[in-house]
Formats: sequence, structure tokens, C-alpha cells
Amino acid sequence: MNLINIIKGTKDFKMLEKEAVEGTLSQAILLQTKDSFYASEFAKALSMLILDGGKACQTCENCQKIEAGAHPDVKKYPLKEKLLVSDSEEIVSESFIRPIFADKKIFIIENIDNSMDSAQNKLLKTLEEPTKNVYLILTCANSEMVLPTIRSRCNKIQLEKLEKSDILKLVSNRLAVSLCDGYIGKAIALEKSKNLEDVCEKAVSVLCDMKHSREVLKFSKQILDNKSDIMLTLEILAIAVEDMLKIKSGKESLVRLPFKERLSLVQSDYSVRALCEIALLLEKLSKEKVYNINFTLAIENFLLNILEVKYLCK
Ligand SMILES: [Zn+2]
Repeated sequence: MNLINIIKGTKDFKMLEKEAVEGTLSQAILLQTKDSFYASEFAKALSMLILDGGKACQTCENCQKIEAGAHPDVKKYPLKEKLLVSDSEEIVSESFIRPIFADKKIFIIENIDNSMDSAQNKLLKTLEEPTKNVYLILTCANSEMVLPTIRSRCNKIQLEKLEKSDILKLVSNRLAVSLCDGYIGKAIALEKSKNLEDVCEKAVSVLCDMKHSREVLKFSKQILDNKSDIMLTLEILAIAVEDMLKIKSGKESLVRLPFKERLSLVQSDYSVRALCEIALLLEKLSKEKVYNINFTLAIENFLLNILEVKYLCK
């Protein structure tokens, strides 16, 4: 099983497959998902579909060249970090040149929402009236950041998250899969993270084991030990809080972290109001991290606040 096979089984892909077979596939397609890795792989599968006459078989020469990232008629942009006016100019002029190997030509433009308006503007005419047999596949995390004039010229597809069962076919670390929220790119990145188990354990232990204000320093040190994983720690804490709320409302089957028993044991120490307050504190703390405010102090305050709301919102 590979990711292309999983993509081929999704509703999103099947719809495009039907259009390709019927000859109604749009020549300008905008794929939206927060998972840029998935967007890139989906664009690859879609290129196979287009060049392989509606099949994406993965074995013919067209498919294999696409898989290897070496198909002369599939061009990927941006060439550098973000799409520049010069990239767009190249796409426009290249779109008039006939394909070399296949009978169609594809331009994949990734993360179009990161590019300047001027670079996007250069593509308007090509998107509106693409040359015969030219396809443009754009990807973005947030289509609100794409010029409305670009959006309106594309068939916009909001890619669905993947099923947990599908992600488990490719990523064996169950913790990574429970944390990824349906985003395969995130699951793969989490699986590579060496400290994942440790970070998770330390985050959960804040809610389960911290009982007294004199322990705040010890717990803040634990969190700050994995400096590069602080955002992950905060994310896991937020999921643990959600999980406790689920346990409280009898929706235990929806719990995401593999700590159901530990969280069940301490959930009665937290009222629903306390958990909601902690969720808000976590949001605030994430923002402080982004703005690089003195973070050691912010963490210590946060931990004290947890104890406080736990006590006050009994
Ligand atoms: Zn093929």
C-alpha cells in the first residue's frame, strides 16, 4: 500500500476520476488542505490521472516518470521558496510549448497562498483560457489568501482529511496517528520526532500528577527541557483537555490520546468549567510562544493558573 493508492480510494479523487473519464475535468484546479505534503502527493496522483488517460495506473511510463519527479511535461513550481513573477512568466510562456513525452502538459503550483499578488496576477489569463491540453494544478492551505480572481477561475476542491485506518497503513506509530488529526504529512513528521513519547508523557503528567504550587518549577522545567517541541507539548495538552471533556460527557470512544485510563482517574479533579478555562489559557500561551514573550515565565504562570482554576472552579 502506498499513499497514491490511498489517494485513489478517496471520494475527492474518485470524483476527479469520473470527470477525467467523462472529459469534463477542469483545466485549472485548486486543491485546498492544511497538509502541504498531502496536497503535493494528491497533485502527483492527479497528474498521473491526466496523463494516463483517466487511470493513474502507477506502472506505465507516464506514471513512473511522474512518481520519480522526472516527467518532462509535469513542471513543479515555485522554483524557490515562493512563487515569483519570474516563475509565473515562465509558466505562461511554457504553456504555449507543446508537450514532449505525453499528449498533455501539467503545471503544478504549490502553496499559491504564499505568493505575492503580482505573481498570482500574471497567471490570470493562462488560468482563464489555458492552451489546449494544458492543465494547472494549484495547492493552498487557505484559499482566502488566494486572489479571488484566481479562485474564481479554478475548480476549488477542499481535500478531505484521511481516515485513521488509512494513515495506519503507512505510519505505524499509533501515537503519531492519534495526534495527526487526519493529516498524513503531520503523522509522518511526528513519527520521525525522536521525543514524541517523552513529550507526550510530560504533557499528560502536568494534568495528571501536578498537585501543588511547589511542584510548578519541576513541571515547567520538564516542559522546557524539550525546547524544540514546546508547541507539540501545548498541542498535546489541548488534546488531553478535550479528551477529559469527552470522558466527562460519556464519549470515551472519541478520546484521541492513548491515556484514557490515566485521564479517567483524574478527570473528577477538574470541573467542566476548569477544563474550558485551561483550554483558553493554552490558546493564550500558544500566542505568547509565537510572539516570543519571556516564555519560561509564561509557562510558570500557566501552570500556576491550572492549579488555581482547578481549585476555584470546583
Ligand atoms: Zn499509468
